[in-house]
Amino acid sequence: MIQTIGVIGGGQLGRMFTLEAKRMGFNVVTLDPQEHSPTGQVADEQIVAAYDDMHAIEELGKKSDIVTYEFENISIASVEYLETHGYRVTPSSGVLRTTQDRLLEKRFVRSCGIATADFAEINRLDDFSGPGMSIGFPAILKTVRGGYDGKGQWRINSLEEARAAFSAAKGAQLIYEKVVPFVRELSVIATRGADGNVVCYPVGENTHDRGILAMTVAPARISEDARRRARTIATTIGKQLGIVGTYCVELFLVASGELLVNEIAPRPHNSGHYTIDVTQCSQFEQQVRAVCDLPLAEPKMTSSAIMMNILGTGKGDHLTGEDALLADPAIVLHMYGKRHAVDRRKMGHFTMLVDGAIDEPAIARAKAALAKLGWD
Ligand code: ADP
Ligand code: MG
Repeated sequence: MIQTIGVIGGGQLGRMFTLEAKRMGFNVVTLDPQEHSPTGQVADEQIVAAYDDMHAIEELGKKSDIVTYEFENISIASVEYLETHGYRVTPSSGVLRTTQDRLLEKRFVRSCGIATADFAEINRLDDFSGPGMSIGFPAILKTVRGGYDGKGQWRINSLEEARAAFSAAKGAQLIYEKVVPFVRELSVIATRGADGNVVCYPVGENTHDRGILAMTVAPARISEDARRRARTIATTIGKQLGIVGTYCVELFLVASGELLVNEIAPRPHNSGHYTIDVTQCSQFEQQVRAVCDLPLAEPKMTSSAIMMNILGTGKGDHLTGEDALLADPAIVLHMYGKRHAVDRRKMGHFTMLVDGAIDEPAIARAKAALAKLGWD
């Protein structure tokens, strides 16, 4: 029987997971190097240590009936350690290996018969102009590992820019991707249970600003056919990956109607935060259910939603304007308990509940609501 869940990583995803796990009666122990982490503030206990400190991982394993992780940039060795020392952990190290490496991930997606952007592996400068290179410009150069929120990425329009980015990457393994001229960015949050059953949330529509998610609109304003195909892709990926837990598949919709997979996150995702406020079982509760081998809930939306991220500006650590924001009863505020509002750091988000279909005036209202907030 599971009573205590261990979470490697102490960020906002772990925090929202923990809030749901606590509501459902579980204990949570988190592991993060930063004291009083967003997760640590709401968990029963935090082990303060590096993600790859094997003594700390062992301690976490001992204290937990099952361990999970809240983001993919932790070391595979930690998950393998738990697996080989008799502790339960999910998702598995195999899932982590595929999803934390952009090359393995894209090859995996293609092996499922699902399209991705054209890509090439870059190990040396000559690879940009080699015989096999058909990608050209514009393209995006990304580090194969460790990137998130647009970090470790360079837009490339010429060979000179490619050279400059290659040296800025300082020897990191790289992937070179064709820029996809998408008409919409989409994501599907899904959860796969230990019994192999997959449930999908409604497709979300995402807007990024310089690589960081700014807004999610759910349900996405796309055709029924595109919605169905997006959910089929997410289901196939979950099954082929064999993941147990909540995951996210990010997609590009292009003008022809084709869907290309951008990346997979083996955990709850920023674009699924709306599920907390407009579904009866959020992506985090679903993760708790999957981790604890409980039945998954087929999610139903009680209203449409617009989720806006609240980013730091570096100009102050105290949020201002919440009073004006919360004067609108359709808004639900979520803050992550981070002490320093560093420029472009994710500090919180809000969900605006919308009756019926989402239109431009509703989006304008959400943007106006965000503009009421500031930092001092
Ligand atoms: P991260 O791990 O930082 O989320 P992504 O690969 O998802 O990295 O890139 C972040 C954002 O950059 C994407 O959501 C998208 O807006 C843009 N982007 C990334 N790759 C491409 C591409 N091949 N074509 C067009 N836009 C892209
Ligand atoms: Mg992404």
